[in-house]
Amino acid sequence: MMQLRLRSDCDPALSPFVTRIADGVPQCAEDAILTSSEAGVLTYQAPHTNFQLRDVSPAEIAGDVLLIEPRRRIAHRLIRAASRHNTFLITEQCDQLCLMCSQPPKQHHEDMFGYYLSAAQLAPPGTQIGLSGGEPLLHKKGLFDFIDAASAARGDLNFHILTNGQHFDAGDLPWLRKHRERLLWGVPLYSSDPTTHDEIVGKPGAFARLSPNLALLGLAGAALELRTVVLRQNAPSLPGLADFITRHLPFAATWAIMQMERIGYGRMNWTRCFFDSSSDFASIGTAIDLMRARRQNVSLYNFPLCTVPRAYQDLAARSISDWKQKYLESCASCNLRMRCAGFFEWYREEDGFMEIGAR
Ligand code: SF4
Repeated sequence: MMQLRLRSDCDPALSPFVTRIADGVPQCAEDAILTSSEAGVLTYQAPHTNFQLRDVSPAEIAGDVLLIEPRRRIAHRLIRAASRHNTFLITEQCDQLCLMCSQPPKQHHEDMFGYYLSAAQLAPPGTQIGLSGGEPLLHKKGLFDFIDAASAARGDLNFHILTNGQHFDAGDLPWLRKHRERLLWGVPLYSSDPTTHDEIVGKPGAFARLSPNLALLGLAGAALELRTVVLRQNAPSLPGLADFITRHLPFAATWAIMQMERIGYGRMNWTRCFFDSSSDFASIGTAIDLMRARRQNVSLYNFPLCTVPRAYQDLAARSISDWKQKYLESCASCNLRMRCAGFFEWYREEDGFMEIGAR
């Protein structure tokens, strides 16, 4: 698996700092320059200190934006210049307890907005940065201030925000309108039946709170990506959800139907929740047909291509982030590999899809 954290050494008395690994000639004062490479240890000169990195080559991290934590001897790769999958974790707190949550909530919150703002200012041109949690809007003021400041400094950046949609209010409308060109809101909706949705997210009343907030996003002209993880609990009712979306949420830019990730609560509840769409694609297919007939966009995320009937393969995105993506031995000879999302690093063949194989 690709490393997002590197071993790093520098003066432990220093406070954490953000720096960018110069890719060739330094572009600004924050750029760190490689001064030596010996026995697997890279030494860089940053503006106010030297630091060392291990277990990585200079080419792998050229242009990356790092957060160095001297006391913990860690360098976080906040932005990997060569990747399209860069995400800032806003908080690990959340007010829902989704059955398949890949990042179970924690009580503690550490405010990282200052570091994230410094990092965003050093991002490559036109970068899209993911903002996720936990639930980022539990820290709405900090989040909105961060986006205001990052947008003022770098008008070329875009943000993809994953939120449970519970924390908007009418007062947010002007702000949502102001930033609608640069923000894509990814909001989970698991069923058109409030009881099923609430059971999946582990929060009574969640659907009732989400509905007007989705309407608010529509009123703001915000870009909305509805996201539905397919589970045993909601798979049969996906056609009903497709009907609901086309009738009540026609402004949604897309509907992402997603496969489950076997980590966190997803691992704990795998047997109870995993829906093997390789052996039964019928309800997903019907839902897609309905969306297409009513001319609304739909995508498949995290589906290995060989688990998707040919008629729907054009909808399957290479959605799994590069740092947690893997392929199986049988994928080596597959003609579809370059187009295929593959598997999450923590996927297990013994309790996964029944029908996969090279094409
Ligand atoms: S065999 Fe592997 S590479 Fe080929 S479609 Fe299936 S999962 Fe993708």
